[in-house]
Amino acid sequence: MHRVKVGALSRIMPLSPGESQHLRVLRLRPGATLRVFDGQGAEADATLIRLDELGAMLELGQAVQNNRETPQPVTLAIALLKGDKLSDVVRAGTELGVTTFQLLQTRHADVPEIGEQKLVRLRRIAAEASKQSRRAVTPEVLAPVPLARLTLDGQGFLAHPGSSARLTETLDWQTPVTLVSGPEGGFSEAEVAALTASGFTAITLGPRILRAETAPLALLGAVAASGV
Ligand code: SAM
Repeated sequence: MHRVKVGALSRIMPLSPGESQHLRVLRLRPGATLRVFDGQGAEADATLIRLDELGAMLELGQAVQNNRETPQPVTLAIALLKGDKLSDVVRAGTELGVTTFQLLQTRHADVPEIGEQKLVRLRRIAAEASKQSRRAVTPEVLAPVPLARLTLDGQGFLAHPGSSARLTETLDWQTPVTLVSGPEGGFSEAEVAALTASGFTAITLGPRILRAETAPLALLGAVAASGV
């Protein structure tokens, strides 16, 4: 069934020009049943009641239970990476259940900042990936903050080569989880010390050195492998 994102679930829902155009391309006709979600966790069936040059209009149907979220929120705090690598991380991370992406400025970050346009693009990628992976939640992509401003709510794990602890040994789903992944140049010793002092556990992802865009997916793969 075709899924569309709406601003909010209400009895009558107008669709954005982009979503309306998509329904035209699919040649849907009034009476067609669709699935709507608001990106905040609410999902329902809906009926297309109008589709013309002015746009599409849906009528709300039965609420649907969407059980695709992890039991507790997962935050991925990821160092700024160059090129299009963050897009790939946001796309795959959304599929793997991330609730919030927190971009991080770190000592050895590949780039010092990202522009507003790139942030908007990352948010669009998160919205598309949540739709594709049939989640009812669209993850937030938060503007970069210095690593020192990263706070811990629940459990925190920092991927750092040479550590001995393993995520799968300590992860529990009673509290929210924050996963931290570094830039190509790695974290400085001072950054590792600051994060561990704030309660993050340094963990290994195995004896091989993973690229900065691979490591976050290995972290999230370990979370997904726990079956949630
Ligand atoms: N020379 C850097 C170092 O020793 O930290 C390598 C950095 S690695 C290319 C990029 C990031 O991926 C690291 O900061 C870390 O967060 C993560 N990472 C890569 N391989 C890892 C591993 N085997 N165990 C834990 N984290 C790893």
